Amino acid sequence: MSLDGTYDPDNIFAKIVRGEAPSAKVYEDADTLAFMDVFPQASGHVLVIHKRSTARNLLEVDDADLAAVMRTTRKVARAVRQALKPDAIAIMQFNGAASGQTVYHLHVHVIPRTEGVPLGRHASGGMADPKVLAEQAAAIAAAIR
Ligand code: 5GP
Repeated sequence: MSLDGTYDPDNIFAKIVRGEAPSAKVYEDADTLAFMDVFPQASGHVLVIHKRSTARNLLEVDDADLAAVMRTTRKVARAVRQALKPDAIAIMQFNGAASGQTVYHLHVHVIPRTEGVPLGRHASGGMADPKVLAEQAAAIAAAIR
């Protein structure tokens, strides 16, 4: 059922866009924003969102907004590779509660992976140290091209 619904303008990502909630920003342009996930599934976990789209998930987003989000996702993934030197990078995206979605503002996960290290729990692991997130955000931001 959660595939259908009304966009909530007070969801946590909308608050981050408006500056009403804090985030460790990695990258921002006219359309998109990338910031560190506070409950990372792996060290260096970044989220990419559109700043104005009210799409709750991939099924609702229009072509131009999706293209902007995916361009930024690739940009961030390249920077994560350079800054953090992971073995691999998982790009993940969930649609509906049964898939694991917990925030209903379209977003893409960029998750650095290390050989032999299992993926952490989705959206329910420990909260990361804000200082570490700020350091990682700065390192990834410095590698954005
Ligand atoms: P979803 O479960 O909807 O695919 O992903 C939502 C993501 O947002 C989860 O990975 C969760 O850890 C993250 N998240 C939840 N609340 C916050 C928050 O307040 N700030 C940040 N930066 N990430 C959050």
